[in-house]
Amino acid sequence: MLGRIQTRDNLLKRRVLNTAAEALCPLCGLEEETCSHLLFSCRYALQVWYECYAWLGISTAQIPLLEVHILQFASTGGSKGQKLGEIAIWLAIIWSMWGLRNRVIFKGGEVDTAQMLEQIQLKSWQWLTARLVDFSYSWFE
Ligand SMILES: [Zn+2]
Repeated sequence: MLGRIQTRDNLLKRRVLNTAAEALCPLCGLEEETCSHLLFSCRYALQVWYECYAWLGISTAQIPLLEVHILQFASTGGSKGQKLGEIAIWLAIIWSMWGLRNRVIFKGGEVDTAQMLEQIQLKSWQWLTARLVDFSYSWFE
């Protein structure tokens, strides 16, 4: 949200990268890699978000802008524990997409949204199990 993630647009501004072509999104290769593009508007990011929304039973027609996304994602009501859970899942999604980006750049990985969803579910469960005292669900539940 502060624009400090070392996405390619920031690397270009800091002259780590030299050309606009070097600043293209590593996932789609169609637009400049900004934080907002990478995490919310890239076609691959959208696929991940829609898969996660389907998993969580959230219906939405449009993915909002970065600044309001977390607020909207975690505003479904419920208890404090439920909100913390929603925020943990949101962070797991963001962290997994950043990891995907880095695997594509540094290890020649490929985008697999079904595999991404599994990673997000596992990471969310691990974080919730570690952080919430009253979260007592098994992996299979
Ligand atoms: Zn892209």
